[in-house]
Amino acid sequence: MKIIIIGGVAAGMSAAVKAKKIAKDAEIVIYEKTDVVSWGACGLPYYVGDFFKDSNQLIARPIGKLRETGINININHEVLSLDVKNKTVKVKNLETGEEFEDTYDKLMIATGASSIIPPIRNVKLKNVFTLKDFKDGILLKEAALKGSVKEVVIIGAGFIGIEVVEAMKKLGKNVKLIQLDERVLPDSFDKEITDIMEKELVKQKVDLHVSEMVKEFEGESRVLKVVTDKGSYNADLVLIATGVRPNTAFLKETGINMLENGAIVIDEFGETSIKGIYSAGDCATANHAVTKENVYIPLATTANKIGRTVGENLAGERNSFQGTLGSAAVKVMELEAARTGISENEAIKKGLEYKTVFISDKNQTDYYPGQEDIFVKLIYDASTRVILGGQIVGKKGAVLRIDVLAAAVFMKMTTHQLGMLDLCYAPPFSRTWDALNVAANVAK
Ligand SMILES: Cc1cc2nc3c(=O)[nH]c(=O)nc-3n(C[C@H](O)[C@H](O)[C@H](O)COP(=O)(O)OP(=O)(O)OC[C@H]3O[C@@H](n4cnc5c(N)ncnc54)[C@H](O)[C@@H]3O)c2cc1C
Repeated sequence: MKIIIIGGVAAGMSAAVKAKKIAKDAEIVIYEKTDVVSWGACGLPYYVGDFFKDSNQLIARPIGKLRETGINININHEVLSLDVKNKTVKVKNLETGEEFEDTYDKLMIATGASSIIPPIRNVKLKNVFTLKDFKDGILLKEAALKGSVKEVVIIGAGFIGIEVVEAMKKLGKNVKLIQLDERVLPDSFDKEITDIMEKELVKQKVDLHVSEMVKEFEGESRVLKVVTDKGSYNADLVLIATGVRPNTAFLKETGINMLENGAIVIDEFGETSIKGIYSAGDCATANHAVTKENVYIPLATTANKIGRTVGENLAGERNSFQGTLGSAAVKVMELEAARTGISENEAIKKGLEYKTVFISDKNQTDYYPGQEDIFVKLIYDASTRVILGGQIVGKKGAVLRIDVLAAAVFMKMTTHQLGMLDLCYAPPFSRTWDALNVAANVAK
């Protein structure tokens, strides 16, 4: 049996390694268009911020070790098109320019996503960056480390934009964050939580501009100014972080079912609308554990998990992914924030009968050093009180509490059960009633 996998990072490599472990005799071929495989983009903001020096630390498994397992890895090879009838892919060797065809019995598409570039005039000026690929990180850091770069403008206050804010502040830059929506992270967090994040950004001297649209960059060869619908600002360096789009344009003619944004629709087995063709990661949907819908939430967590499930299925098993909760965390300067399940905004859009509770509490006892505020929001079913989602923001110990909520949402726990759940207690870590117990007990 021959398996071809397009894309060799989180989803593709997880699938390849798992499939090879189960089906030792299968021929597994990976085509990856860049020169790096098995690495984690999640570390890029911290590499850029010089939290660590060696970009190789982003690599999870070295290519040599992966090849030793018998997986045939071809870097600098781009798949140009796919013939689903004859089960062939057309591949270009980007080093030699040679094009050739290869055949498969089973195929996985794990091509990830690319940064969306909004229609901004002069977007190709020097010192305008995106942050998605390995090379993006190297180039952005190289530019940011220059002493001449003082004014940094970040466009887009999603996860990546906010993480790069911290990186640039650490490098001593003046940072302006421009967001088209009326608040930061509007797709992931509700307003009670983003209000706290925004306060923190302002407190840390980030120049936050919301409800503002970037129209144009000014400059001869290098960017000098960012022009919006509300003003014009000096800029030595600009980062565009306005979301991602699945890398699926090359599949247009295949008839594979996709969402409007180009995300490949997969079922719980990771299979596409064409039998024997699988997909996972940033180029594909995921089944949502709460709504049961096919959603597009591009995260490393699901790329790895659905990738591994696809690997099992490529090897002949029939296993399903139990569903994403969109669990995600972000550091906003000195704050930690995390979310899981559905937000209130999502509950409204779905017309659910829901209730919410939002509490302010403390992370631990006051007599042990390090007490901080912690804020918890729960979204739960109005009649059954089953918890549908949650969000937490605070400092020490805030983010990892979301994992309790993820388990609660997944297991359909009620607020009553969470209120009495036997969570741990010792003075340096919590209070006798943890903030999660308190939030659930306040819920009516
Ligand atoms: C800055 C940043 C921070 C992030 N932080 C987090 C985080 O903290 N937590 C989290 O859960 N997620 C995070 N993510 C998201 C996470 O990195 C992605 O969800 C994950 O990398 C997706 O893996 P993937 O394998 O689907 O796609 P990718 O990692 O994008 O890999 C796809 C690969 O396919 C290759 N490819 C594309 N087209 C072709 C083709 N036609 N032929 C051959 N090869 C092709 C590409 O070159 C690419 O290497 C972050 C992402 C970024 C950019």
